[in-house]
Amino acid sequence: MKVIEHLRNAKEPLFSFEILPPLKGKDIRSIYEGIDPLLSYKPSFINVTYHREEVIYKDRGHGLLQRVSLRKRPGTIGICATIKAKYDIDTVPHLICGGFSREETEDALIEINFLGIDNVLALRGDAIKNEPQFIAERDGHPHAVDLIRQIDGLNKGKYLHDEELEAAPTDLCVGAACYPEKHPEALNLNVDIAYLKQKVDAGAEYLVTQMFFDNTKYFHFVDLCREAGITVPIIPGLKPITTIKHTQFLPKTFRVDLPDELADRLVKCRTDAEVKKVGVEWTIGQARELKAKGVPCLHFYTMGRSEAVRTVLEHVF
Ligand code: FAD
Repeated sequence: MKVIEHLRNAKEPLFSFEILPPLKGKDIRSIYEGIDPLLSYKPSFINVTYHREEVIYKDRGHGLLQRVSLRKRPGTIGICATIKAKYDIDTVPHLICGGFSREETEDALIEINFLGIDNVLALRGDAIKNEPQFIAERDGHPHAVDLIRQIDGLNKGKYLHDEELEAAPTDLCVGAACYPEKHPEALNLNVDIAYLKQKVDAGAEYLVTQMFFDNTKYFHFVDLCREAGITVPIIPGLKPITTIKHTQFLPKTFRVDLPDELADRLVKCRTDAEVKKVGVEWTIGQARELKAKGVPCLHFYTMGRSEAVRTVLEHVF
């Protein structure tokens, strides 16, 4: 079933979460171990992220460095199909522009459709690690909106080589990303929202936010989107902070601000256990307020760890 159908049918806020494909060499059981603790809260759908290649330089001796392209977390579409088959829960593979030609994108979409997956979250992706900016493939998409247009075209039966293929239109529900604190590259929030509107006009049926720790930023963002004519559901994304490392890398990586009250409590923590207590309590507070305000769904970033999310759910649902 499509995410948009779940959202339309919902009588109260839904629950969904995002997982990462495991690092190469691990097996599918590590995915099940992340999902099983959350099953009793009846997730409406599960997102699986996509990770593009990283570039590393191997020292070959005599001053020679070899540039090697490495994908550490493959398998997004396969994991989605496996989860759907095992748990009968809808899945949402993330698909990015980075590293994909339009041809490869079409192949991925055909595979998603063929496997009976009804959804896709269309993203641009970030620059390759250590590269200063995002660079699209020669025949790839520079922005998520272009990917959304390709998916929308396929949904209307427009394949790249129509004359070669006698293929039926796909019927994929497309979601897109949004940023209550603006995308780091955007000139300002209004410019970012103007581009966001283009994604919705191109066919994105719902939006999922970047994680945020201050609900007022989410509510303000939703107001601005509505003023800009964006009417689709905007799903808030939440992440419990559980380690000292999180306090260092989450704000930097995702360019999100921690509100003073949370920051004041976190700077006093000396251990991961203390951070986790504060972080989980904070997310419980956020989730309760968002649920009470009637958001369409509460979406959680597990980052491979579901225990803290489970604790939040125990207090919210
Ligand atoms: P875009 O919508 O293309 O926006 C990128 C920037 O370009 C923004 O600053 C925007 O304002 C600007 N822009 C947009 N359209 C145009 C235009 N037509 N002309 C000029 N400028 C424009 N990354 C992954 O690699 N894998 C994942 O699985 C993944 N999952 C994510 C899930 C969520 C919910 C979120 C919020 C992010 C996720 N990301 C993921 C990160 C995402 O790929 C990055 O944030 C990326 O830098 C931007 O992606 P986007 O789809 O928002 O891009």
